[in-house]
Amino acid sequence: MGVLFMHNCVLCGGTIPAEDGGKAMLCAACAAEVREKYRCAEPVRVPGVDGAAAALSYAGKVKYAMQRFKFHHKQHYADWFAAQALPLLAERLEDWQPDLVTYMPIGFVHLHRRGYNQAELLARPIAAAFGLPCQATLRKRPFTPTQSAQKDFAARQKNAARALLPLDGADVRGKSVVFVDDIITTGASAAAAAKLLREMGAARVYLLAPAKTPKKGTV
Ligand SMILES: [Zn+2]
Repeated sequence: MGVLFMHNCVLCGGTIPAEDGGKAMLCAACAAEVREKYRCAEPVRVPGVDGAAAALSYAGKVKYAMQRFKFHHKQHYADWFAAQALPLLAERLEDWQPDLVTYMPIGFVHLHRRGYNQAELLARPIAAAFGLPCQATLRKRPFTPTQSAQKDFAARQKNAARALLPLDGADVRGKSVVFVDDIITTGASAAAAAKLLREMGAARVYLLAPAKTPKKGTV
């Protein structure tokens, strides 16, 4: 019977005993590893945002878990990744004074193929935890080249700016907006999104992500 209440560690796939009311999403060893090794300690600097924070280093087990979440239908990992970002927002709530949580859109083809937008799955529980509305505000222009094909920050920012459009009916005027993305790589996509949200009238734009690509040699 006990086996019904066992589930698997998000990071290593090992089974977790049903202690903690079955709520733990990491085994004890991975929980310790996250504390010691995977917390993102670097400052997050993204041009054009009023503040930015990332919870984890996108490396090792965290990276593989994020890839399973994004590409292998592990939608329920969103709860764990979102939970990593929650304390960051809690610490900044007074400073950021958010009115709205929004997220990076994905293209129609990706959405159709994957069945979900991973950034939306992250943004919803984050917004819910603070009683904030979570709304789509941007959309992706179809058939734009992928960011990974771009050679440098300037090219990525230009490509991202071209790829993003305001969503019809979105209203961010005068609002303090928390923008959620899955991973901050160079920050170029988030910078382009922040610029567009500002052009749409947002008073302030903050960036929150569960993970950030570490500088070489830090993990
Ligand atoms: Zn584990």
